[in-house]
Amino acid sequence: MHCPFCAAVDTKVIDSRLVGDGSQVRRRRQCLVCNERFTTFEIAELVMPRVIKSNGVREPFNEDKLRSGMLKALEKRPVSSDDVEMAISHIKTQLRATGEREVPAEFIGNLVMDALKALDKVAYIRFASVYRSFEDIREFGEEIARLQD
Ligand SMILES: [Zn+2]
Repeated sequence: MHCPFCAAVDTKVIDSRLVGDGSQVRRRRQCLVCNERFTTFEIAELVMPRVIKSNGVREPFNEDKLRSGMLKALEKRPVSSDDVEMAISHIKTQLRATGEREVPAEFIGNLVMDALKALDKVAYIRFASVYRSFEDIREFGEEIARLQD
């Protein structure tokens, strides 16, 4: 990158190290023209895809909304906050990993259902019954039967 002091084009990296939990790289650079030194930080750009709602409206991904939906399903269930946060973090990783700029809300709903299924079967059924609005009681019963395998 250009030198911030003299705008020279060539600067060299004289030191490079991981910062914090390893999510950042700190580099000491020196300008080849004026010899001034400066520091840069490099972090991954973590862009969450936007959400396409069923009516076609796009909205920004909302982590709080995701969390409150999951917590509602997990109400009074024996699941620790740490496990919930880990599940949320995993869902976000999966969303970024799609590499898409936009994902259907349904896709996120399915990720949440997978996460809840692994965390707590009752929470999963609660969430699924609202989210998927089972066609009829038989379909709902079949889903519960599958969980008991
Ligand atoms: Zn310079």
